Amino acid sequence: MIVNTKLNPAPASGNASGNVESNFSLANRHLKVKYDRTDNFHQELKRRVDEYFQTNGLSPKDAPQMYLKTLIIFTWFTLSWGLLVFAAQTWWQVAILCFSLGMAMAGIGLSIQHDGNHKSYSDNTILNQVCGFGADILGVSSYLWKQQHNLLHHSYTNVCGVDHDINMGALCRLAPQQKRYWFHRFQHIYLPILYSLLVVAWHFYRDFKDLLLGSIGEYKIPRPQGKDLFLVIFGKLLFFTLAFVIPLWLHPAWQVISVYLGASAITGLWLSFVFQTAHCMPEAEFVSLPEDAQPLANTWAVHQLETTVDFAPHNALLTWYIGGLNYQVEHHLFPGICHVHYPAIAPIVQATCAEYGVKYNVLPSFTAAIKSHIHWLWLMGQEA
Ligand SMILES: [Zn+2]
Repeated sequence: MIVNTKLNPAPASGNASGNVESNFSLANRHLKVKYDRTDNFHQELKRRVDEYFQTNGLSPKDAPQMYLKTLIIFTWFTLSWGLLVFAAQTWWQVAILCFSLGMAMAGIGLSIQHDGNHKSYSDNTILNQVCGFGADILGVSSYLWKQQHNLLHHSYTNVCGVDHDINMGALCRLAPQQKRYWFHRFQHIYLPILYSLLVVAWHFYRDFKDLLLGSIGEYKIPRPQGKDLFLVIFGKLLFFTLAFVIPLWLHPAWQVISVYLGASAITGLWLSFVFQTAHCMPEAEFVSLPEDAQPLANTWAVHQLETTVDFAPHNALLTWYIGGLNYQVEHHLFPGICHVHYPAIAPIVQATCAEYGVKYNVLPSFTAAIKSHIHWLWLMGQEA
């Protein structure tokens, strides 16, 4: 049986990174979702990655370049917001600063809060929480993010009915197992446009619905209490104060709403395309939930490799900006390692996959990944 190592800890909400089973308390039934436990490939992969850190005298977390990046992106965000609210005089200054704010917000979402909420930023719990709170500053509850992203998405990637990253209801069909409606034939056109509204939906609908219902889809979430409840409320108040209350003191409502929608659209497009191109792709597998508590066909590590796609592995600027999420394969295998190490780990993963005959998906560029995702949307919209 494979055990968790320091390099590959359990996702933040307590589920295992690997080969353990979880009991999901679903609304209508009790269901066990579990993986096969025997996996020499995963053992060897962890040993080699461990060896990389030991040989090079590196720590998987607390990287100096990550501290610097955090400083740069938070300063970028603060300056963009501050100049927009207190200094901008002309329409073109507003347009440039609105774009800059949207890019800085996406940077926080992709590069800072993601590591913080995975606890891969630092060995210091408070530092992880502070960086994880970056999601709340963007108007997205880090408490709910950890439930949906760390637990449901990371543990059961592309498992239909459990992974909510591939469930957008009737709006679109992202997996072959999902029901097709006639309008899905146009989803490759309308969905990329709707991605621009992703964070707006999060701000005004999704988080509040999940909190009020106490569930994400069929998965019941623990109600936030104590410090968690305080942070959920404080985060929402902070976001709405920054986005609306302070700007409305100084500017007309139509300007405030226009800037809000513009910056949110940029953030939504970045978050959607970066996360969707990792899994909603022809290169990735989509898995049905087994009946009668049978284990999934693959071990946890092989499952992650078959359902995840890397892209643009040599694009250093993109890697910096999107928090190494072009290396989603490495991120899914090692969610407890800070993303700045993914480019160095990727060749180790690739070589081990080749040796063990395990699939390793990688596309040459972000453009190729976006094209492939759009093609997948088109494919899923066609009649069977
Ligand atoms: Zn993640």
